[in-house]
Amino acid sequence: MYIGNQHTSTVTLSRVVDFSCSNCGHQEKALVTGVGQGQGNSAYFLDESGAKDRAATGANKKALKNVGQTLKLAKCPNCGMRHKKNVQDFWMIQVLKLVGSFAGVMLIGVILYGVAGDDIIYPIFLGAGLLSLILVYFTDVRWRWNTVDNRVQFIGDIDIDTLLQGDQ
Ligand SMILES: [Zn+2]
Repeated sequence: MYIGNQHTSTVTLSRVVDFSCSNCGHQEKALVTGVGQGQGNSAYFLDESGAKDRAATGANKKALKNVGQTLKLAKCPNCGMRHKKNVQDFWMIQVLKLVGSFAGVMLIGVILYGVAGDDIIYPIFLGAGLLSLILVYFTDVRWRWNTVDNRVQFIGDIDIDTLLQGDQ
């Protein structure tokens, strides 16, 4: 059994990135928002601040990665299409994630049946497996897909340096 504290940190950050459409060749700068969650453990409650730092660092990394993943799924402002292969890859990963969460729980049931041999174990773990699949869908998969268009803002050919200099 694990004794200690688990710190969770969520980071939301935005980056200006270059979008390039694979269908029509349109290129534009986009402000993409990424979200990431990180965890840090402090075993036996030692190193609390280190655990917090690790959670924040992990969340930051994942948020940056999410910026990249989100850009790959962005809808082109010119032709309205998404990159077909990227969308396919995205759903492939999500399906594997869902199947994995279900299979993981069912596997525990199978192992437990080997120990306890009680027939009630299968229906219980089948239910728990489905529940975990639904949970992963609603807490992870759904927002990743549903919020893509809101997390990508096309900003035309704005020159960032000019923006930063203001009206000097
Ligand atoms: Zn396009």
